[in-house]
Amino acid sequence: MTDPDKHKILKNLPGIDHLLELTKKDDQFLDIPRSVILECLRLSLERIRKDILAGNETNAAKETILFMALSLAKEKIRPRLVNIINATGVVLHTNLGRALLCEDALDNIRAVAKSYSNLELKIETGKRGIRYEAIDELICELTGAQSAIAVNNNAGAVFLALNTIARGTNVVVSRGELVEIGGSFRVPDVMSKSGCILKEVGTTNRTHLRDYENAVSDNTGLFLKVHASNYKIEGFTASVALKDLVALGKNKNIPVMEDLGSGTLIDFSKYGLPPEPTIADSVGSGADVVTFSGDKLLGGPQAGIIVGKKETIDEIKKNPLTRALRIDKLTLAALESTLKLYRDEKKAILEIPTLRMLTIPFKDICKKADFLFETVKKDIGSMADIEFADMNSRPGGGSFPELNLPTRCIAIQPKNMSVSRLEINMRLSRPAIIGRIEDNKYILDPRTIQKGQEAIISSTLTKILVKK
Ligand SMILES: *Cc1c(COP(=O)(O)O)cnc(C)c1O
Repeated sequence: MTDPDKHKILKNLPGIDHLLELTKKDDQFLDIPRSVILECLRLSLERIRKDILAGNETNAAKETILFMALSLAKEKIRPRLVNIINATGVVLHTNLGRALLCEDALDNIRAVAKSYSNLELKIETGKRGIRYEAIDELICELTGAQSAIAVNNNAGAVFLALNTIARGTNVVVSRGELVEIGGSFRVPDVMSKSGCILKEVGTTNRTHLRDYENAVSDNTGLFLKVHASNYKIEGFTASVALKDLVALGKNKNIPVMEDLGSGTLIDFSKYGLPPEPTIADSVGSGADVVTFSGDKLLGGPQAGIIVGKKETIDEIKKNPLTRALRIDKLTLAALESTLKLYRDEKKAILEIPTLRMLTIPFKDICKKADFLFETVKKDIGSMADIEFADMNSRPGGGSFPELNLPTRCIAIQPKNMSVSRLEINMRLSRPAIIGRIEDNKYILDPRTIQKGQEAIISSTLTKILVKK
């Protein structure tokens, strides 16, 4: 194309005002904000101009420009935080939003969000109230603690507690407990940021009471125990029980704190899972402060809960950092509703999705697997080999490290597509479906698939395998 030709085409391009007028008559642009349409029209025109100048073959028709702008606009207004289907079997999947909330929590969030509330008002006196009071009593009732406060997350809870109790002093921690939880939460870093001086004792695999005792100096401000969460030391190991550390603390007049990480209110061993100390156990051992997450084994909203001796919790409440880490009213609403269910353990197990998915009996998993199998088989039986595969699910969220939960998965091997292509296409579909590949098969674990999602999974598989 010669330069004069190019300029002629450029000159004939429709003007932006004219294009904007055309979009007003097109229903496809109806729900798209004007500012977005304008920007996308500009972008489209710019691209076409560049193509023309570069001498590329270009379709500069109005319809083409409008179509281009519409695609760009749709992509722009597409919601970014969206629902996905978790078929990984990892119950507390940090990348997938950790705990699902129970119905009561969802209802309460809506109720509290829609209306004014007594977030910081004492209704009886008309005076200013304290936001934590909504849950303080309830947490104490469930854990046996004297006092409680909830903040933004457990990382914040640990930071706040350390900063309040032990700023400027030595905090004694076993070398086996200097863990990294992921997402940049590392015990030594949190320690230094909170103004404490880390005093490591013992070895990676073995730490004894005398190690803590020998580390005590005039500047020792705290004994800290940290739940190893996402890893496990096996073999020749020794650690000090919380109650022994509390006894030493009493003797030396040094407070004791435990970061439980995930923290549970129920004894999971009743449901065939390994015994994990409950929050009440830690409180009962006499720790001054215990911290745990709201959205791990508790199955509630993201939060960090601090329980312990009244004096210590009162100090924490007075720390100005508490304001920076404070819990919002929606979280508080969800937390109260979730915690309330724990007054009746049977109800909690049934209604809190995390507990339900962790304790579901194998025979019920098999029923879910049967249903998924039948649904999928009916739709894509001719296009793939489908079979059951007895495997393991993971609790996730740093709870029950290395624990395998027996599960029955569906394993799919497409006849005309690679397994990795199938995995990618499932992930790129809307809603995204997250499965995994094992032994060159695409694996779907029914444990974390919610009621009603089987049909979506099956129709998505069909679309992908038919289209290919
Ligand atoms: C998960 C975890 C944390 C961080 O809790 P968040 O609620 O994710 O902030 C801190 N300590 C331990 C031991 C944990 O397992």
